[in-house]
Amino acid sequence: MSGRLVIVSTPIGNLGDFSERAARTLEGADIIACEDTRMTRKLLALSGLTSTAKLVPYHDHNGATMRPRLLADIGDGKIIALVSDAGTPLISDPGYKLVASCHDHGFTVTAVPGPSAPLAALTVSGLPSDKFTFAGFLPPTKKACESAITDVIDLPMTIIWFETPRRLLKSLTLMADILGPRLTVVARELTKIHEEVIRAPLPDLISMIEQRESIKGEIVVLVEGRQTDDTIFDEVDVTLMLQEELRQRSLRDAVKSIADRTGLPKRSIYQLALKMTNATPSD
Ligand code: SAM
Repeated sequence: MSGRLVIVSTPIGNLGDFSERAARTLEGADIIACEDTRMTRKLLALSGLTSTAKLVPYHDHNGATMRPRLLADIGDGKIIALVSDAGTPLISDPGYKLVASCHDHGFTVTAVPGPSAPLAALTVSGLPSDKFTFAGFLPPTKKACESAITDVIDLPMTIIWFETPRRLLKSLTLMADILGPRLTVVARELTKIHEEVIRAPLPDLISMIEQRESIKGEIVVLVEGRQTDDTIFDEVDVTLMLQEELRQRSLRDAVKSIADRTGLPKRSIYQLALKMTNATPSD
């Protein structure tokens, strides 16, 4: 049989999710290209698999060097299985350049599909699943994170992000500020002992998490897309509300009051208020 690349999904926490076909593929491969060979060795050992395949590292830092070698191996008729540490390779994990290069060389690429955190999270979220955007990891800096959230503000579909426990509250707070009180889900430790799905409008979700001593584990955040109702209040409506509110209260309180009444994001009301008053942002 001619050489090929096989993309093999592995469990995201529960070994029981390791499929029969994934196991047989790893056993039968000539080479397993691993994000981390130690992790894959551990997975094989825990699953009681005895693969004679050669394990080689394939990750972001050695991809450029490894790709020509792996392509040459496929050209020589070898079957290469690509795995990441957990879940489906290429999904915020290495592999897409290797797949693209295989196509460029006319090599076959097949998949042994299986666990993947964003899809598992979507299915338990109770958020619309007919259309969604997977936006990868939220960026670590505040500015880049704001911009990533602002980029999806108008998308009328569920948005899925990966996030770390350490940054979760900061990111949720930025989301609340930019997206308003949208229904949001934190899906944590899926398929593992401490699996948990926390689901509430953003401000409530933030309070619930603030009340905890800490939040740990692997996390997916899902936010509902823009609702058509968001457009019930147009700029003229909000301007009139602002004129009224600003007669009675401070800019900050006026923005909060209108956000509570309309469900619109505070940030967009604030921007409009600044435009009206010609002020400069204070925060
Ligand atoms: N390729 C993987 C997949 O298909 O699931 C995702 C790899 S990405 C580098 C790792 C991130 O996925 C974690 O930081 C976390 O955000 C999310 N994740 C992985 N396993 C998870 C789990 N069991 N529960 C919740 N989120 C998980």
